[in-house]
Amino acid sequence: MNTPSLLILPGDGIGAEVMAEVGRIIGWFGDRRDMQFDVSEDLVGGAAYDKHGVPLADSTMAKAQEVDAVLLGAVGGPKYDDLDFSVKPERGLLRLRKEMDLFSNLRPAQCFDALADFSSLKRDIVAGLDILIVRELTSGSYFGEPRGIHTENGMRVGINTQRYTEAEIARVARSAFELARRRSGKVCSMEKANVMESGILWRDVVTEIHQADYGDVELSHMYADNGAMQLVRAPKQFDVILTDNLFGDILSDCAAMLTGSLGMLPSASLGLPMENGRPKALYEPVHGSAPDITGQAKANPCACILSFAMALRYSFDMGDEATRLERAVEAVLADGVRTADLMQAGDTAPVSTTQMTDAIIAKLEGSL
Ligand code: NAD
Repeated sequence: MNTPSLLILPGDGIGAEVMAEVGRIIGWFGDRRDMQFDVSEDLVGGAAYDKHGVPLADSTMAKAQEVDAVLLGAVGGPKYDDLDFSVKPERGLLRLRKEMDLFSNLRPAQCFDALADFSSLKRDIVAGLDILIVRELTSGSYFGEPRGIHTENGMRVGINTQRYTEAEIARVARSAFELARRRSGKVCSMEKANVMESGILWRDVVTEIHQADYGDVELSHMYADNGAMQLVRAPKQFDVILTDNLFGDILSDCAAMLTGSLGMLPSASLGLPMENGRPKALYEPVHGSAPDITGQAKANPCACILSFAMALRYSFDMGDEATRLERAVEAVLADGVRTADLMQAGDTAPVSTTQMTDAIIAKLEGSL
């Protein structure tokens, strides 16, 4: 295969700050592991609006379609709050997701032992937690037609439609089964087949795909409301959770909070395989542009660095190197190194964004 190509879109606020740290990590892998990446950088969000008058230029969109993976920081900020909806920074991100057809959203919820006390749940319920929520991202209630607000008999009515085709369900189900094969081989599919026809179809199609091609993976089904309860009761019973766009939005945020800080959460959004076999892919931290701490060297770079680790694993088939990077982050946390968002009573002074990366790079060195 050719040198893997990466398009870096730092975006706004702390997006640019944490992405600069990822640049150092990429540099380390190049220098010390001889892993070369063809890296290009461009604008998205408010930064793109300032230059082009749109949150994502056509030329940037075209580049995103060509590269092996896109790595995005964060978009948005108070400066752009009053812009017309059509050019708001978030539209840049939505355009990327839509035009790259990124239907499979991966949200890991991993609880590093050193951070187990950050969870609102008891340590023994979350310590060692490692689950992956696979959320359908391009269909369902957020896109279904008809939608809108209209007036009937003098009363306003709001409508959204939960709509799924079997092809849409099948492709995200395949994505979840494939991912489960690379993990502990278990998928729990969540819907509301008890009260929704789209849920009945979801359950049928997932079962059919499982029977046809993934007999080696263990499949179970759960109603999404029970899933929410189980996530906070006994989250370690799950490995991969497969669910739709609406339920996935809620369940993945719920699962994320089991693990503590927003500054630690990576994500990936994957589409269909390209000609070279790699999936279309966008990697980004879950957090936003954090205007309240921008420019203060307080941002935790871990979520963005862990998003790069996901790129190593899911786009570049470098799972061992992804694990090396994740272990380096874990080891730094175990040493008690903390950015401000991870401070607890009794902790000594926080480290800066750059110092956190210094510590991670030192652990990477130590891993050789
Ligand atoms: P946010 O995620 O930016 O921040 C929420 C809180 O978490 C803030 O107190 C922030 O300081 C803290 N935080 C977030 N990331 C952190 C990190 N890496 N290290 C340390 N602390 C961190 O959410 P918000 O404040 O609701 O939104 C701010 C802007 O970001 C808005 O314009 C919003 O639209 C945008 N946003 C963008 C994305 C994205 O780009 N994917 C996601 C969410 C929000």
